[in-house]
Amino acid sequence: MQLANRVKDIKPSSTLAISARANALRAEGVDVVSFGAGEPDFDTPQNIKDTAIRAINEGFTKYCPAGGTVELKEAIAEKFKKDNGLSYDIAQIIVSCGAKHSLYNIIQVILEEGTEIIIPAPYWLSYPPMALLAGADPVIINTREEEGFKITPAQLKKAITKKTRAIVLNSPSNPTGASYSKEELERIAEVAVEKNVFVISDEIYEKLIYDDSIFTSIASLSKEIYDLTITVNGVSKAYAMTGWRIGYAAGPREIIEAMTRTQSHSTSNPTSISLKAATEALKGPQETVEEMRKEFAKRRDYMVDRCNLVEGMSCPRPQGAFYVFPNISRLLGKGFGAKRINSSAELADYLLNTAKVAVVPGVDFGADNYLRLSYATSLDNIKKGMDRIEEAVAGLK
Ligand SMILES: *Cc1c(COP(=O)(O)O)cnc(C)c1O
Repeated sequence: MQLANRVKDIKPSSTLAISARANALRAEGVDVVSFGAGEPDFDTPQNIKDTAIRAINEGFTKYCPAGGTVELKEAIAEKFKKDNGLSYDIAQIIVSCGAKHSLYNIIQVILEEGTEIIIPAPYWLSYPPMALLAGADPVIINTREEEGFKITPAQLKKAITKKTRAIVLNSPSNPTGASYSKEELERIAEVAVEKNVFVISDEIYEKLIYDDSIFTSIASLSKEIYDLTITVNGVSKAYAMTGWRIGYAAGPREIIEAMTRTQSHSTSNPTSISLKAATEALKGPQETVEEMRKEFAKRRDYMVDRCNLVEGMSCPRPQGAFYVFPNISRLLGKGFGAKRINSSAELADYLLNTAKVAVVPGVDFGADNYLRLSYATSLDNIKKGMDRIEEAVAGLK
């Protein structure tokens, strides 16, 4: 069958594949512990659910403006002002079916054949396929664990060519949890402004930040970088609303208008009921966000400590999101019987088959010396899974 060239190299999302395999094992009755999750395990807060039910009962079930309701855009503008010191008017805001779709739209409207986008690795695994689907070249820049998995201004400067249109920044990061400080962002912004490249700032984990880290939006640092930045956020991670599919982007009016035109021919408006629910999420009480964050912080501490007790693993303490990213390079080359484990994928397979623990291999994020373990699951599960990993890894010689 003849398919478009564009989709030839596009693979399905491997994090979803791991969950599918873990679920298949579960269906056979195997007791699998999953550290694969890319979503909060908490339920959506009740006030948000009640608002959605009311929207259904009141008949808010028809088409809405393609880029989202004015009511929600105003709530988003207010949120940017209050949380991020950013002033956007509603013509600079679009609501999409998840932050993922906002990112997809941005890349569609600013990239094309013959252009490049800089993606620091380890990266969220949807950025490279999004670039490929726009016909552009993803340029992967490896960051170093010693530098906190953050791209340096020198690395960025060196990577920029005449073809570069944009860089993606994701702070706090999925998968590493790395979070850029204000000073670090200032230096990145200087390079972006000097070279005139767009910054796509994926701030979906803004609310999940730990210790004394302070979240900064790069667009807030100067007028020059504000004009070059498209800020992306959403309700999925902060409000445990992954299934509702509401994300948003804000930036230069021309870009947002082009995204809105594009979206009007693909999804049209995100679900009307979810638009209402997201408005309540942003405008309603915020206590549940902090409760979830505190619980995540406890789990992070426990999981990092346990990873560091596993012989052959070492694990930095991430500053945000809900993943730990242990270095497993000392385990590669070890094995059991005649079998050697030579990659993060083989180690992930071994852990699923032997320990019945699902983890995501670092290779999926462009970093083969690591695993990603999600702590978006109960402390009891984390303890059980870490006991099993410790025992299975001890079996490798
Ligand atoms: C989860 C996630 C998203 C997408 O979230 P949506 O559910 O589409 O709003 C975007 N970026 C990163 C880094 C993520 O982890």
